[in-house]
Amino acid sequence: MDTVWVLGDQLDRGVGPLATARPGHTRILVVESTAKLRSKAWHRQRLHLVLTAMRRLVGELRAAGFEVDHRRSASLAAGLADHTAEHRPDRVVAMAPASAAGRARLAQLGVEQAPNEQFLCSESDFAAWADARGPKRLVMEDFYRWRRRELGYLMDGAEPCGGRWNFDHDNRQGPPRGPVSWPEPVRGELDALDGEVLAELAALEASGVVLRGAVPDGTWATSRAEARRRLDHTVEHVLARFGPHEDAMLSSSWALAHTLLSPYLNLGLLRPAEVCDAAEAAYRAGAVPIASAEGFIRQIIGWREYVWGVYWREVDRGYRTVNALDAHRPLPPAFTTEPTDGAVTGGAGHDPLAVAGYGTEMRCVAHVRRDVHRYGWTHHIQRLMILGNLALLAGVQPQALNDWMWANFVDGAEWVMLPNVLGMATYADGGLMATKPYAAGGAYIDRMSDYCTGCRYDRRRRTGPDACPYTTLYWAFLARHAERFARNPRLVRQVRAAEQLADLDEVCRTAEAMLGRLDRGEL
Ligand code: SF4
Repeated sequence: MDTVWVLGDQLDRGVGPLATARPGHTRILVVESTAKLRSKAWHRQRLHLVLTAMRRLVGELRAAGFEVDHRRSASLAAGLADHTAEHRPDRVVAMAPASAAGRARLAQLGVEQAPNEQFLCSESDFAAWADARGPKRLVMEDFYRWRRRELGYLMDGAEPCGGRWNFDHDNRQGPPRGPVSWPEPVRGELDALDGEVLAELAALEASGVVLRGAVPDGTWATSRAEARRRLDHTVEHVLARFGPHEDAMLSSSWALAHTLLSPYLNLGLLRPAEVCDAAEAAYRAGAVPIASAEGFIRQIIGWREYVWGVYWREVDRGYRTVNALDAHRPLPPAFTTEPTDGAVTGGAGHDPLAVAGYGTEMRCVAHVRRDVHRYGWTHHIQRLMILGNLALLAGVQPQALNDWMWANFVDGAEWVMLPNVLGMATYADGGLMATKPYAAGGAYIDRMSDYCTGCRYDRRRRTGPDACPYTTLYWAFLARHAERFARNPRLVRQVRAAEQLADLDEVCRTAEAMLGRLDRGEL
């Protein structure tokens, strides 16, 4: 009998070798590797999500009549060896893992690898598209339009619905003025299986594994059925409001009108085609405006699949170690300080917006850290323009930020983190992905959020004791890299503006002192 090996981020019965497996003809292997669990720090909601979802799939497969060999082993190799010794399979086949290291490991173990079908654009199709461009940059917008035409999403014949490919202009509004109620994210009840996994996590932690973040509260679905329930809720109650404020940040709402579907897509609990089909249908039914539908589908068939393609094209060309801006600062305490209990749990009379206890007085950073701690998730602008931007401006080593992001987000994986952190957030790849570094001062953060109101710093000041770290470090960053970016058409104006600042010397001295305070956890 053949064995189909199902990995922890391949929890989709409808794709790959699992799609054609039949009870009585195929045995299923699921291995929980102790070495993997102990390999790094984790957000506890991430580990809970993956382990619980794996076990729920095991239960579903058994209920469907499959014989499932579900084992906890010292390593994946040990799990396979024990399975092979016990069951003597004719062959073992798996869907190709989502990481280069995973594929190499399975190849070493003699496991047959079928194409990974969790994306709409395969690695080879992306490579063919990229090769056909010759020396031209891999522009996401070009990739996205090609995919729109190929897949037919939001197309009226050969033309894009609404007459435009891109509704970014409509979708970059700051927070709405006045009080607004945002859709409440769906939550489920934790059950006995959740409790079993949480008890194991507590034991792991007691044995030295570093687990961070708040305990799960039912926000993240751990089965396909529950993920589908969240997709239905998203289409009905969230998606219409997604577009205009997708870049906005509010201290009073961690999710705003974001869909929160990325963990499910990345684990195989939802498929990219089904979420895009649902968004398209809602648009065609008049329930979702074109700007929101386009903004959402762009995230899935554009950004997500583009990042997947870039990962596979670059990962074996030294992408993990790129550091174009020669940034070597260790991660500062503003990232690494573990929050105090009061910061997490509040209590009677607790201000829900209070963010003391996160190792920083930068209100924007503290708010984003709070959301990462509570949910293991923040949206793309908080990742890029608060966390990534601070690391970029301060010259934090890109790989240190990458590891931190990977360890702190519920939707983290190497394929998604490397291009987003090394390419988009820190410009460490020297412009392979981004046409310019995503550097911004306090003015941008103030325009897109409510974080600056009540902050101990003044986003307008670049010198003096109240100077906003983002504002000061922004100008100092431009001055530091003026030579490199003086010929970049998207940045030359800002570089010139920095050079013409009458107080540039003082700004640079302030920045120097600020970086020392950042290192010491005093900002
Ligand atoms: Fe962040 Fe500066 Fe605004 Fe404070 S003033 S919230 S540090 S951008």
